[in-house]
Amino acid sequence: MINVMIYNENVHETTVESVRAIYPDGIHGAIKGFLEKDGAVGKIRCATLKDHRETLNKEALEDTDVLIWWGHMKHHEVDDEAVARVVRRVLDGMGLIVLHSGHASKPFQKLMGTDTPLLRWREAGEKVRLWNIIRNHPIAQGLDESFVVPHDETYGEPFGIPAPDEQVFISWFQGGEIFRSGCTWRRGEGKIFYFQNGHETFPVYHQKEVQLVIANAVKWACPPLRICLRDRGPGNAPALEKYESDSGGFTPVTRG
Ligand code: ZN
Repeated sequence: MINVMIYNENVHETTVESVRAIYPDGIHGAIKGFLEKDGAVGKIRCATLKDHRETLNKEALEDTDVLIWWGHMKHHEVDDEAVARVVRRVLDGMGLIVLHSGHASKPFQKLMGTDTPLLRWREAGEKVRLWNIIRNHPIAQGLDESFVVPHDETYGEPFGIPAPDEQVFISWFQGGEIFRSGCTWRRGEGKIFYFQNGHETFPVYHQKEVQLVIANAVKWACPPLRICLRDRGPGNAPALEKYESDSGGFTPVTRG
């Protein structure tokens, strides 16, 4: 079973009535709602900006296989020590799924080695068509060659990310932009997936194709083993094999 942690800023849902109407239990509640119906998913924990110093604790993160991250306007209020714990766990193998404006979150920037990645954006409720360009990719299973999100925030290239290891989706927006909307990377032992859709004023996370992408990504990003490599450290290590020679095992080669 895959243990999931969902971090959601949870500011818009608690301060803007129209957003609360779409996500009465918060974006994290909506994501939890469809993931808990997935037989492969075990424990689901949630963290919000308000409680993340406690909820993103070491024990909980070590018991997490995949962390999902949604943040927008309060990235700078996320605690640096919590960010360091998240980054360390990703390097140890925890999967990370970064949604929508999470491209500007501290953990994503640290793992990508960027400042806030540049992009074009516009809140115009435009239609977006996502092209599924690696149809055999585990994250694309069950999808057609493309699908439409009727209304979302527009993001456009150039997007200042390092070149993805795999480009799973590319989006076309009604206003003319294109965007690398589904990207994967590996950092250390961890797998990272960025997925663009999900502006808070549209019911994007209630759409079944989007739910399928996230559920597939959880399975793809889950490490086969839950280990903490970095706790072991690089360490001085004895040889695993006995040397064949009696002379301390090392015969210097002399020349001339
Ligand atoms: Zn947005």
